[in-house]
Amino acid sequence: MQVPFYRHELASEDAKLVADVLSTPFLTSGTVGRAVEARLCDYFGTKHALLVNSWTNGALATLLALGVGPGDEVIVPTQTFVATANVIEILGAKAVFVDVDPDTLLMTAAGVESAITSRTKAVIPVHLYGQMIDVLALRNSLRAHPNIAIIEDSAHCFEGELAGDKPGKHSTCAIFSFYATKNVTCGEGGAIVTNNTPLYEVLLQTRLHGMSAEAVDRFKLGAYRHWDMVRMGAKANLPDLLACLLPRQIEAADKKWERRNELANWYEANLSDTPIRLPKHVGNAKHARHLFPIHVPPGVRDEILAVLGANGIGVTVNYRAVPSMAYYREKYGYFENNFPVGEHWGQGTISLPLFPSLTTEEQKYVIAVLKNKVTPLIENTPDRRTTT
Ligand SMILES: *Cc1c(COP(=O)(O)O)cnc(C)c1O
Repeated sequence: MQVPFYRHELASEDAKLVADVLSTPFLTSGTVGRAVEARLCDYFGTKHALLVNSWTNGALATLLALGVGPGDEVIVPTQTFVATANVIEILGAKAVFVDVDPDTLLMTAAGVESAITSRTKAVIPVHLYGQMIDVLALRNSLRAHPNIAIIEDSAHCFEGELAGDKPGKHSTCAIFSFYATKNVTCGEGGAIVTNNTPLYEVLLQTRLHGMSAEAVDRFKLGAYRHWDMVRMGAKANLPDLLACLLPRQIEAADKKWERRNELANWYEANLSDTPIRLPKHVGNAKHARHLFPIHVPPGVRDEILAVLGANGIGVTVNYRAVPSMAYYREKYGYFENNFPVGEHWGQGTISLPLFPSLTTEEQKYVIAVLKNKVTPLIENTPDRRTTT
């Protein structure tokens, strides 16, 4: 049997939405996107939402709006996608990594506190795999540093909640990704949500070259009006050609979450009696169930990747610790065991197929391969250590 890692659910109804935009004179960011932004405000309960063409460009626009640049530091967890750190480095600032909690793999408030210096401008907590870090607790722990911004990396956490609160409530802003494999997708895209009106007004500029007026306004009929460039900005706006795909995705998000949650619960129930280790659940949280990572002893991880591949099961690795990547290793001279929890998790983790159209039959097959072919490999490993 072949089980893909991911199967998207955009269909011919979505092609019709693109055709509708093609039949209007305006292709880039206009009224379609503005309606989606209003819907996002509604969904997240925030005052403002801005569509962007990726999480990465949204984060660049945010860091530019906050004035982050050379000499500044931004704190990020070791366990995340490289983009979380790269956006800081692109601007000439320094990504300061902190190790994660050994049970949940999330950044901790204590870790953040230990990394703060006089140069710290922001913190980017990551709601890894869909579990929210406690942003309110983080904010309280930063009470003595009111100028440090908290930017939630919510790329995995569209549907997640903690104590009933969604991303964007207690932070400076939260940024989502609508990349092809994310829970809500339009192929490439993202959004920033915030309750901070002054930041929102600056983001309107840093999202589009630092210009003083958006294209939709510049091209209004009537006499040409000059625009000005008032600050440095990114090119981060989402065109209506992609934004038109989002309303259906947003409406379907909670229903798709139910199916992924059911699948993830089934994986958990069936793997509990194996030597495969799973992240612990955060209490009082709704897990967005973006990815389903497992952990095996690092010594056999790559062999297990090969076995899963040979048995037709699509898997990925999310993530090897970012500071262990060649660029960061060479730039900052990180060495083994600087971040023991993150490195160990990154050397042993594998993400299993998890998407709404995964059938019960497909999932049973994945579980059978894990029990019959992967478990014996782990049991025959001299170093069966899957915990740090
Ligand atoms: C996907 C992802 C990003 C980057 O999103 P893009 O929209 O591709 O720029 C950032 N952070 C995390 C945790 C991600 O998974």
